Amino acid sequence: MVAQEVFWRRKTLHEMTPSEWESLCDGCALCCLQKVEDEDTHEVFYTTAVCHLLDFNNCSCTRYEDRCTLVPNCVKLKPDDVAEFHWLPPSCSYRLIAEGKELPEWHPLLTGERNSVIETDASVLSIWEVKDNEISDEELLDYVID
Ligand code: SF4
Ligand code: SF4
Repeated sequence: MVAQEVFWRRKTLHEMTPSEWESLCDGCALCCLQKVEDEDTHEVFYTTAVCHLLDFNNCSCTRYEDRCTLVPNCVKLKPDDVAEFHWLPPSCSYRLIAEGKELPEWHPLLTGERNSVIETDASVLSIWEVKDNEISDEELLDYVID
């Protein structure tokens, strides 16, 4: 019997089932960092200011179901948005797959451990400095990642 290739190598993002799509997220929450966009070039820069709705114990969202209502710039990724994935963190699984790359070895789908992204310091918990509701919009610029 020939072993079947894992779904993320066998399927395109559009072909994945909803549960496969969800499982592709490594739980890093790097996309929960606030970003600033250069008005002229539209280049996106990440900051170390993180959304105040993050659960700092396990790197999950405390209000996942209501996230897009409570935080208007919270991003709900969909396969149709693949062309815009360039602004996602370079390690983001959706971006990696969209670019035809492999998942990192610490990805939960490879380790079988949900926390492996945290344990390898690949999550937002390793880089955040401040919650976004503790600073002003002007102060956000002080937290831009070089
Ligand atoms: S950056 Fe990508 S992989 Fe990480 S939490 Fe956000 S959507 Fe998931
Ligand atoms: S609302 Fe939740 S998912 Fe959205 S940015 Fe904040 S912590 Fe992340």
